[in-house]
Amino acid sequence: MTNKKFLFIIILMRTKIKWTPQRLAILKYLEGNKSHPSAEDIYEALCGDYPTMSVATVYNVLEFLKRTGKVREIYVDSDKRRFDPDLTPHHHAVCINCGKIFDILDLELPDLKKYTKDFDIIDAQLTIYVFCDNCKGKEELKIGFKEYECTKCGTVRTAKHKPQKCPACGSRGFLKEYKSNQ
Ligand code: ZN
Ligand code: MN
Repeated sequence: MTNKKFLFIIILMRTKIKWTPQRLAILKYLEGNKSHPSAEDIYEALCGDYPTMSVATVYNVLEFLKRTGKVREIYVDSDKRRFDPDLTPHHHAVCINCGKIFDILDLELPDLKKYTKDFDIIDAQLTIYVFCDNCKGKEELKIGFKEYECTKCGTVRTAKHKPQKCPACGSRGFLKEYKSNQ
């Protein structure tokens, strides 16, 4: 058994929360996950198998895991709250084009106490903003824009924020972030 698996079993045993199959699925999804998912990402990945799951359920589990120190919230994305089950000290690089978040390991911060004499430091996370391997050098880059695909009619639209309704077919709530195969 890997250390990580062992740790998750300990979490299950020690906690008072009722581990319903849905909640277990969230825990399982997070185990070893390197994608720094948001609650919405987790919901989207699991709602097919668990039709009664809600984003609120996901948040409840995330808040619980955060409070008990099993998951770390990372502050790299102003649109979404993102979570990291990897608790080893590390930092992140975020691609300002595609939004992917990468782990930066073995990076030592300077002695921050020197700069914050009057404060108690709770946490320090360094975020490096990058164009990732896939995005660097691409022409027509629009910073901060994302592509959204209407899952009803298939139209792809570029926008800064998720449009409420599809400009082509007019249906509401069918726009999903479009992942082009870069
Ligand atoms: Zn990128
Ligand atoms: Mn990370």
